[in-house]
Amino acid sequence: MYGFSEADGQIQALARGFADELIPFEEQAELAGGELPADVTAGHAKRARELGLASTNMPVELGGGGRTTLQQVLVQEQMGRVTNALGWVASTPPSWLPAVATPDQLERYVRPAIAGDREECYAITEEGAGTDVDAIEATAHRDGDQYVLNGVKWHVTSYNTADFAFFQARLAGGPHDGEHAMFLVDLPTPGVRVVRTPAYAHTISHHHPIVAFEDVRVPTANLVGAEGDGMTFAYEWFRFERLMVAARCLGAADRLTEEMTAFARDRRSGGRPIIEHGLVAGMLADSLTELFAARSMAYETARGIDRGTDLKVSHAQCSMAKLYCSEMAGRVADRAVQVFGGRGYMRENVAERFYRELRVERIWEGTSEIQRMIIARQMAKRDPATLA
Ligand SMILES: Cc1cc2nc3c(=O)[nH]c(=O)nc-3n(C[C@H](O)[C@H](O)[C@H](O)COP(=O)(O)OP(=O)(O)OC[C@H]3O[C@@H](n4cnc5c(N)ncnc54)[C@H](O)[C@@H]3O)c2cc1C
Repeated sequence: MYGFSEADGQIQALARGFADELIPFEEQAELAGGELPADVTAGHAKRARELGLASTNMPVELGGGGRTTLQQVLVQEQMGRVTNALGWVASTPPSWLPAVATPDQLERYVRPAIAGDREECYAITEEGAGTDVDAIEATAHRDGDQYVLNGVKWHVTSYNTADFAFFQARLAGGPHDGEHAMFLVDLPTPGVRVVRTPAYAHTISHHHPIVAFEDVRVPTANLVGAEGDGMTFAYEWFRFERLMVAARCLGAADRLTEEMTAFARDRRSGGRPIIEHGLVAGMLADSLTELFAARSMAYETARGIDRGTDLKVSHAQCSMAKLYCSEMAGRVADRAVQVFGGRGYMRENVAERFYRELRVERIWEGTSEIQRMIIARQMAKRDPATLA
């Protein structure tokens, strides 16, 4: 199906097999606050790298997988079948970085991240600046051969596992005063501290603390690209990550549809399997139908990128894929809880976990409202037929 090449089919099967290895650890992670024993997690990360499922988005010459966008989607889709973020071991370092990194940054950050020896986190959002990234108040001012960074960042995902952060700030003083810039900050560094670590709806080992950066000094060699470049990187990252969010939502919907169908065939009520009750059958049929539509859209978006589709068109299509796939997965999870009945409300049930976990897919990497605005903005400028 979907006209996959042999290589596409092979990596998809590898990723599916690996996801099936991770699934038995979900309940243990859920009941332990998201944590698995360190050696188990390390083993999963090692296996993901050995199978070629990590850094699939990075260039081969730097040690990455150099996979097509479609193949990256196929891998992330399978990782999305697993709850509690156990699939995050198939990590994807920022693919925009090699093009702008200095040779020194390639050696200190990019190559080790690709090899799985270093891990990044993103410190962009602030209390008063989420959707409106331009409203950030964090500052960076140059002092000789260093920059001094100040700001309080929210929702810094993976801060507890990362050993460097991308920190976005507004330049204070100098020729680019007021413009954005991005910096690499090694962790720990004097002046960086966790303000607090709030609890979130999902149960995963990666925390999202509020982190204060107070007079943090980094060498000028840690500026990413040039002064004033900060927003460009964010947009490029969003395009990639939105498609990967869509891919993981496909995986979640696939797993849920599979599990609720198996349950509905088996579970009997009124002397019949519940799949024979029209109201239950409708929920199953709607879920598979929407999954088919979402898959077709996400795969075609990925293929378009591989064909070199116009960047603005791809940008809108990634937004469409993220919007539709995340909302679709949310509907499927809601139905799955319903099909499982009381069991669907138990933490040991995959539908309960996904019901909580999938909610954020409509919020991070740009909310559903923002995706709709991006799509409509392109529709105002060009013939909708060029976009879909
Ligand atoms: C679990 C989690 C992990 C995260 N990880 C990271 C991370 O690692 N690094 C990082 O930097 N950030 C991270 N974020 C932040 C995330 O990107 C933001 O939460 C998201 O962009 C929304 O911003 P906000 O929460 O400030 O909501 P707001 O921007 O305040 O939006 C509130 C509501 O208003 C709507 N809205 C806002 N502006 C508009 C508009 N112009 N038009 C229409 N509607 C609008 C939104 O859609 C939303 O419904 C994370 C968030 C979560 C929940």
